Amino acid sequence: MNKEVRVRFAPSPTGALHIGGVRTALYNYLFARKTGGRFLLRIEDTDQTRFVPGAEEYIKDALDWLGIGPDESPWNPGDCGPYRQSERKPMYMQYAMDLIEKGHAYYAFDTSEELEAMRERLTAARVVSPQYNSITRTQMKNSLTLPEDEVKERLASGEPYVIRVKIPRKEEVRLNDMIRGWVMVHSSTLDDKVLMKSDGMPTYHLANIVDDHLMKITHVIRGEEWLPSAPLHVLLYKYFGWEDTMPQFAHLPLLLKPDGNGKLSKRDADKQGFPVFPMDWTDPNTGEKAMGFREQGYLPEAFLNFLAFLGWNPGDHRELFSLDELIEAFSIERIGKSGTKFDINKAKWYNEQY
Ligand code: GLU
Repeated sequence: MNKEVRVRFAPSPTGALHIGGVRTALYNYLFARKTGGRFLLRIEDTDQTRFVPGAEEYIKDALDWLGIGPDESPWNPGDCGPYRQSERKPMYMQYAMDLIEKGHAYYAFDTSEELEAMRERLTAARVVSPQYNSITRTQMKNSLTLPEDEVKERLASGEPYVIRVKIPRKEEVRLNDMIRGWVMVHSSTLDDKVLMKSDGMPTYHLANIVDDHLMKITHVIRGEEWLPSAPLHVLLYKYFGWEDTMPQFAHLPLLLKPDGNGKLSKRDADKQGFPVFPMDWTDPNTGEKAMGFREQGYLPEAFLNFLAFLGWNPGDHRELFSLDELIEAFSIERIGKSGTKFDINKAKWYNEQY
């Protein structure tokens, strides 16, 4: 029996939604509609230092403007909420403790000075990427190296600590990405990433895996910049014992600068006025000079059509699609592997056709 497809868009509320983020949202939406599945919006707000007030409402408004709103979200929850990670905080600690009990995670008490000294030592020894890993952890202050009593004392005294995942020294980690195909990584290239921070907040990696599991996500469709994190995520699924329900991954190709020279960064996007609409936009009648696709007069249909073609094609010569036609034509198999140039003239061309 085939499971119901459940996909999610999981932005961090750190500012305006740019072209890459909104493309991810659109592909998730199209895949959910095409397969009769559910599209969830989860707000990944565990990094308080990067939180921008108003960004969450902005995401909602942007998806509403485009007509690709989610089936489940902080505003219209289903059974697997809350859909804001900051509201799920106590739960993540239990999952981290579960990993400690199973021997796949440990407490680490190193101060930032000690970590810095470790990095300096390794750099001096010409280690290319200094890491906290199976080799260096043996020289650090953690529950794998300290006597059990001392660990208990440190914890009881309220000394700050983090929880790190214990990456094995020698293991081949594999995943079959729906777009990239087989990806294989040796565990010696991964580090013992922090799962719980000293402020009691989970990191992206832990919260993302736990939530995808609890929200019964079947397919993780996200930008290629997350591909390097995927092997760690595969290991976490294994350590939790959730291999059977691990989602399928689909990492979307990079968006490139207009000249094809390098990745389109958020800065490029800001400079050239490519958010969906600007963060501080309030009213088009105030005369305030606001930049963004919406303010520049792009129609949602034209913008969606343009976005859909940033990495996907229907396999024939058709270029103009309504949202319903996009749903009908969409498939992950037709998403390309190589980067796509961001060309504003193409966006203009679509807009002129509507
Ligand atoms: N919070 C991550 C972001 O800001 C989500 C990445 C993912 O989809 O796993 O893009």
